[in-house]
Amino acid sequence: MADTTVDLSLVIPLYNEEEVFAELLRRLCEFVNTLQTAPNNQARTVEVILIDDGSHDATPRLIQEASATHSWIRGVIFSRNFGHQIAVTAGMQHTSGRAVAILDGDLQDPPEVILEFLQKMRAGYDVVYAIRTKRKENILKRAAYAAFYRIMRALSTIPIPLDSGDFCLMSRRVVDEVNTMPERHRFIRGMRSWVGYQQIGHSYPRAARTMGESKYSFSKLLKLAFDGIFTFSEKPLQWSTMMGMIVAAGSFLWGTFVILWRIFGVPSSSIQGWATLAVGIMFLGGVQLISIGILGEYIGRIHNEVKGRPMYVVKERCGFPQEAENSLAKVTQVMRGVAQ
Ligand code: UDP
Ligand code: MG
Repeated sequence: MADTTVDLSLVIPLYNEEEVFAELLRRLCEFVNTLQTAPNNQARTVEVILIDDGSHDATPRLIQEASATHSWIRGVIFSRNFGHQIAVTAGMQHTSGRAVAILDGDLQDPPEVILEFLQKMRAGYDVVYAIRTKRKENILKRAAYAAFYRIMRALSTIPIPLDSGDFCLMSRRVVDEVNTMPERHRFIRGMRSWVGYQQIGHSYPRAARTMGESKYSFSKLLKLAFDGIFTFSEKPLQWSTMMGMIVAAGSFLWGTFVILWRIFGVPSSSIQGWATLAVGIMFLGGVQLISIGILGEYIGRIHNEVKGRPMYVVKERCGFPQEAENSLAKVTQVMRGVAQ
C-alpha cells in the first residue's frame, strides 16, 4: 500500500499509556514541526500510526481525539491486548510512507533521534537501528537483556545486532518484505535483520521511563525472548540431541567402569550405590524433560502457525484518508492469508 505522498511514517504501539499520552503528543507535534520547517529536509510529509493494544484506560479515546485534531495522526484500535510485537506489525501494515520508524510510546525512544536516522538513511542504508548505549533501567533487567542478546547472537544464524531493540528506521522495501512474512510469533528486530540490504546501528542513550510503568511484564519479556530464540534457531534441538549423546556416552563409560570394578575390584555390600542410582535417575529425568520441553516449544509454535488465525482484530480505525480504506481491506486479506 505504498503511497509516495507520505515521506515518513511513525509506528507507535500503546498499551495503557494515558499518563504518557499528552507529553507524547506534545513531542510528536514538535517533531513534525521540526521536520516540516527544517531546510533541506526530505521528509516533509509525516503520518503517525498509533496502535491501541487493547488498553483498559483512556488511551483509545485519546487516540481518537488526537486523530480528529491532527490530520497526520491515524489510529488503529485493537479488540483486545495482542502484545507489543503484534501491535508493531499492525502498525507497519497500516503505513504508507517511503520510510517507516518504529518507536515506543513512553518516550524512552526519543522521536528526535529519528532525524539522525534519516541522515544515515540518506547515505544509502535501508535500515538504521538504535543501539542502546546507556540503559537507565534496574540492574537485573539490564543483566537479563545483556544475557539474552548474547545467547541470541550465539544461537541465531542471522546476525541480530547486540543491544538493539525495535527502535529503528526502515525503507519501504524492507517494510514491505516484513509485511509479507505470515508468521504469528513475531520477533520484529530479527525479521528486520533477516531481510538484509544495508543495515547500520546508531547509538543513543536510552532514557528511563519518566511516566507510567513498564507494560512488559516478566512473562511478556520471557515470551519475547523465547520467540526470538525458537523462531530464529534450530540449535536448541541440536543441543538436546547432543545432551542425549553425552549422557548415553557417559552412562556407557560408567557402566564399563562398574563392570570392571566388580570383576577386579573389592566386592562391596549390596546396599552401596543407591545414591548414584537415585541421582542418575533424576539426572536422566531432567535431561528428558528438558528435551521434551524444547520439542514442545517448537511444536506449540507450529500448532499456532497451522491454525492460521489472523494476527489481530481491529475494532476501529480512525484518521485514515478515505482512499486508504481499500488498501487497508487488502492488508486484512493478506493478513488472513486470503491474498498474497
Ligand atoms: N506495549 C504494547 N503492548 C503490550 C505491552 C507494551 O503495545 O502488551 C507498548 C507500550 O505501551 C510501549 C511499548 O510497547 O509503548 C514498550 O513497552 P514498555 O515501555 O512497557 O516496555 P519496556 O520499555 O519496559 O521494555
Ligand atoms: Mg519502555
